Amino acid sequence: MLFTIPPLVALAAYVSAAPTGSTTTASSQASSASSTSSAAAATPTVPYASDDMNYSFWSKFADTTPEPVRGTTGGSILGPQNVALERQGPDFLAPPTTDSGSVENVKWPFALSHNRMQDGGWARQQSVRDVPLATAMAGVDMRLNAGAIREMHWHLTAEWGCVLAGSCRINSVDQLGRNYLAEIYPGDLWYFPEGIPHAIQGMNDTADGCEFLLVLDNGNFSEDSTFTLTDWMAHIPKEVLAKNFRVNASAFDHIPDRELYMIPSAVPDVTSAKENVVSPAGTVPLPFTFAASKAPVQNVTGGSVKIVDSRTFEIAQTIAMAEVTVVPGGIRELHWHPTQPEWTFFLEGIARITVFASSANARTFDYQAGDIGYVPPSFGHYVENTGNTTMKYLEIFNSNLYEDISLNQWLALTPPDMVKAHLQLSDETISQLQKVKPLVVGPGEW
Ligand code: MN
Ligand code: MN
Repeated sequence: MLFTIPPLVALAAYVSAAPTGSTTTASSQASSASSTSSAAAATPTVPYASDDMNYSFWSKFADTTPEPVRGTTGGSILGPQNVALERQGPDFLAPPTTDSGSVENVKWPFALSHNRMQDGGWARQQSVRDVPLATAMAGVDMRLNAGAIREMHWHLTAEWGCVLAGSCRINSVDQLGRNYLAEIYPGDLWYFPEGIPHAIQGMNDTADGCEFLLVLDNGNFSEDSTFTLTDWMAHIPKEVLAKNFRVNASAFDHIPDRELYMIPSAVPDVTSAKENVVSPAGTVPLPFTFAASKAPVQNVTGGSVKIVDSRTFEIAQTIAMAEVTVVPGGIRELHWHPTQPEWTFFLEGIARITVFASSANARTFDYQAGDIGYVPPSFGHYVENTGNTTMKYLEIFNSNLYEDISLNQWLALTPPDMVKAHLQLSDETISQLQKVKPLVVGPGEW
């Protein structure tokens, strides 16, 4: 019977905080909060959420031995401790008290991936085998030394690439015999539709070769299981090769007996415009590359957002990108993506994300440059800069369009009485809601 007593303390707190009438001086941007004062306020039915703050322990743990203690909860570690990893995941060791239930792991540092090292460079990858929730996209981080070639190959997965450093030359031929050859530079993108053959070569004009990020539109993709030119040729009878190419079988005396995957080579000494073979069918009508480094950036108070999807990079029908920067202390606002999961890659700085999975399941993850995150479709999240420097990351979607829903905008465009019935917000707070998505919020705005 004890439990049938209403939460009197919470109720008392509500009464003292009840709206006092239409005293709000609404700005031109604000909702018309004053029209709601005559409506009957909804009655609280449960206690209020805790007032406790749950600040990141990233900097605290950097200077002290990490301990799983937050407020009055937890206790020191007496057993063995992996201090380096605990410093990288302070919200695993001492989670915010708002975390609850269970959310599967959505963090993968490329530093934990096996690295395939070869003459010419290296490649390491992340797939559904590393992050079981990440079914829609997989990632690869690849380095090609100057001149080295990621060999001619194809795969039944579309490939989106972003140059992280240096420059590279890419080439391709489509199903109508139209070809493509181009150099691309840091921040620029490429996209090869599924099954279209391609190769990538490291150049030496801005660095010794290149490093790039690949995102594939299938979480099962493996960079070790692509269809490669050398692998195929090595597994065809030589008389068949002779017939196919209408030459003597001895023409193939020196083909490799197995897949090469990566090939050391010389940097091309002529421009792509000069070197490209002239196809009777011409070049591809939609370029396979896009100079995203020169694309417009939307500057907002807490940072910036640059969106590149099929509206500007037309060939990219299954991968869309937002490049986001967040100033120290700022956050990419609370939002979700209606139908698509987000594959997140951290380029600079320190961040934390709380992934809300419905049914009281919420879990907070910490990330740093080189780490991958993943947010399933419709899971609510924010991305907070918990470091002292600008944080920069990519939001990537298996989609032709970038789409998100802003919590702030959703509330601002809903009748205030409806919002008040849920959250007991004051007219003053209602007046601060933003009808235009803030996207990234900076310190000093609250
Ligand atoms: Mn490929
Ligand atoms: Mn997002």
